[in-house]
Amino acid sequence: MKATNNLLITESLIDGKWISGKKTFDVNNPANGKTVAKVADLTVSEAKQAIKAANIAWKKWKDTTAAERADLLYAWYSLIIQNKDQIAEIMTLECGKPITESYNEITYGASFISWFSEEGKRSYGDTIPSSNPTNRIVTIKQGIGVVAAITPWNFPLAMITRKVAPALAAGCTVVLRPASETPLTALALGKLAQEAGFPKGVLNIITGKDSSGIGKELSTNPLVRKISFTGSTKVGRILMSQAADTIKKVSLELGGNAPFIVFDNANIDEAVKGALIAKFRNSGQTCVAANRFLIQDSIFEEFTKKLTIAVSKLKTGDGLKKDVQVGPLINKSGLEKVQEHLKDATEGGAKIQIGGHVIKDLFFEPTVLSDVSTQSLIAREETFGPVVSLFRFKNEKEAIELANNTEFGLAAYFYSQDIHRCWRVAEQIESGMVGINTGMVSTASAPFGGIKQSGIGREGSKHGLDEFMEIKYLSFGGN
Ligand code: NAP
Repeated sequence: MKATNNLLITESLIDGKWISGKKTFDVNNPANGKTVAKVADLTVSEAKQAIKAANIAWKKWKDTTAAERADLLYAWYSLIIQNKDQIAEIMTLECGKPITESYNEITYGASFISWFSEEGKRSYGDTIPSSNPTNRIVTIKQGIGVVAAITPWNFPLAMITRKVAPALAAGCTVVLRPASETPLTALALGKLAQEAGFPKGVLNIITGKDSSGIGKELSTNPLVRKISFTGSTKVGRILMSQAADTIKKVSLELGGNAPFIVFDNANIDEAVKGALIAKFRNSGQTCVAANRFLIQDSIFEEFTKKLTIAVSKLKTGDGLKKDVQVGPLINKSGLEKVQEHLKDATEGGAKIQIGGHVIKDLFFEPTVLSDVSTQSLIAREETFGPVVSLFRFKNEKEAIELANNTEFGLAAYFYSQDIHRCWRVAEQIESGMVGINTGMVSTASAPFGGIKQSGIGREGSKHGLDEFMEIKYLSFGGN
């Protein structure tokens, strides 16, 4: 198979047709403010059409075999990999992340499609001993129906494949609404899905600026049986309450406030390497970004010095340039949040070790703040920018208390070479994912998700498929 010619698509996909709508909206490159494309600005009425189309398509799609669905998913996966150069460029243009990170995201995101193409074949039920001698009990698993998926801009490809691949593998059909900052990667995926051979209406993609109107339709329309959302806790809360009236199944992948603990017996050089990965990927704009670095008193100065040197070497710039490691922030409000957090932290006594300024437009200097107060905004909310904030702690008990002192519970990281401490701390930390001596936790084979106000449900792994399936119990009577 050869690479597909043009993946810069600006129309939405409903029932196998590309729809322009009456208006368009601009997708801008955060690195220079230039318009990358004008994309179809669809409305609630087209969202309704897409839901209807998905519901009609579901009647046939649910009766396909897992093996048939796996073949289509694998073809889609292969097309994404074959077209990775074009997709990576589109992704960097619309979200600003360094091109090497865009390539990594394509590999990571596509891996969910290959993973679930296989996992769909293993949606086993049970046979259950009955308490009644004349009855036989078995369970089967079936796709839940029409799924609405809403995704954010920070991982324009992977946040889609993590939910759409298991939904399709389970026999569900999908209406996807990608973030209006990054619809182009989503539409490229739609084009490749069509080329892979998915029947019309199985995957529908609606682009549009009216996020709350379309979101309301997707979360209240009775034909939609499940809503899967990745984004902020604030919007997750709205969708969950809107979905309550029709009792939809809900999965929420929400915000975090990840602690990154370095104990006195850690390998400090490894911890510095892990810190760079956990903090600076996508300029700090990841849900699993380390937000609070908790460093034990006795190694605070050494860690701060080594990390500051490492941060001073990071290269910031337009993500299309090959050696750039830190790109721009996504938009003005993202930049303002970083500035607000920094001002609040320094007013509360934090010291700037390096950085602290806007370089130009949406580019912010990689920054290290030390001696940050636990009362500061940075300690309570995700900063979503290239700012490391270092807090001190005295002992293990205090580190765990500080780490858990948040309503969020997505990712957490810690470094220690003491195996007993590793188990103890891992068990005490309140989060869905814990990186122990590593700054990276995401992979298709492991369950990704949060606890507390970071979300409900898991993506990836054997559990990711269950989010899109119902268990049906069959009771056979007679002898
Ligand atoms: P956001 O404001 O919640 O937006 C996420 C998506 O929801 C976008 O598509 C957005 O559309 C849409 N949206 C906004 N308001 C809506 C409404 N009232 N009803 C329905 N949809 C609505 O979040 P963001 O700022 O784009 O993304 C960053 C957040 O996502 C962070 O909190 C981050 O931690 C979280 N996140 C979590 C995970 C995870 O796996 N847990 C992964 C990635 C990101 P528009 O953009 O077009 O307005």
